Amino acid sequence: IINIDKVSKSFGAFEVLKELSFSVKPGEKLALIGPSGSGKTTILRILMTLETINGGHITVDGEQLWHKEENGKLVPADEKHLHRMREKIGMVFQLFNLFPHKTVLQNVMLAPVLVKGVSREEARTRAMELLDMVGMSEKADVRPAQLSGGQKQRVAIARALALQPKIMLFDEVTSALDPELVEEVLNVMRRLARETDMTMLLVTHEMSFAHDFADRVLFFDQGRIVEEGPPEKIFSDPQQERTQSFLRKII
Ligand code: ATP
Repeated sequence: IINIDKVSKSFGAFEVLKELSFSVKPGEKLALIGPSGSGKTTILRILMTLETINGGHITVDGEQLWHKEENGKLVPADEKHLHRMREKIGMVFQLFNLFPHKTVLQNVMLAPVLVKGVSREEARTRAMELLDMVGMSEKADVRPAQLSGGQKQRVAIARALALQPKIMLFDEVTSALDPELVEEVLNVMRRLARETDMTMLLVTHEMSFAHDFADRVLFFDQGRIVEEGPPEKIFSDPQQERTQSFLRKII
């Protein structure tokens, strides 16, 4: 469902991604791990069209992301094309970015009504189902300021799901949380991974969570994938010295 082909990205003279290539199958749950600064967040931001690319190609759901076809040739994508592509992908960030003046329920209902033209009634029913799924239906009428970080993050997950994207991206969703709140968010995500056939990409520093969540783990270092494989293999029997030393330090 995603194909990344020799994608390069630089910030000034600093090359963050170096001809990065990988594919993701429909329904696959992928964990991106690796040292800070290795480009994991950047690739998610590129997929969300929050960053441009300097070289290479990306297809999402059978269509070019950063280019479009015109008379058999690839030309840079315009805003209209990007807008349509964005509907395929949802993202949950490290910081929750909830609308502070709206209630929990309104936060989850808003985008389907405004972006997709869903009726308020239908949006409300669906939002309540999603809040129920993340264990937040009792807080439907409070504002984000009254919630803990873990609760905010669960609402942010429900909000991203409300647009029914084919692909969900999660960027270090627990790293801004107090340790005792991490587990409630991870539990919601474990369930999501098990119960939906949505494609999911996750950047995380929680190795045991990556192990439970992912079908496949990609280990990034300096803008490249150094090693990949099923979690059992990567975590118990990594082949590359770089992966071994990273895991020794972090676990
Ligand atoms: P972390 O685990 O710390 O989030 P990461 O692997 O996700 O690391 P990225 O966030 O993708 O790494 O960042 C890769 C590098 O690109 C970092 O060195 C970062 O400083 C740099 N970088 C990211 N965004 C920008 C930007 N907008 N301008 C300049 N440099 C940037």
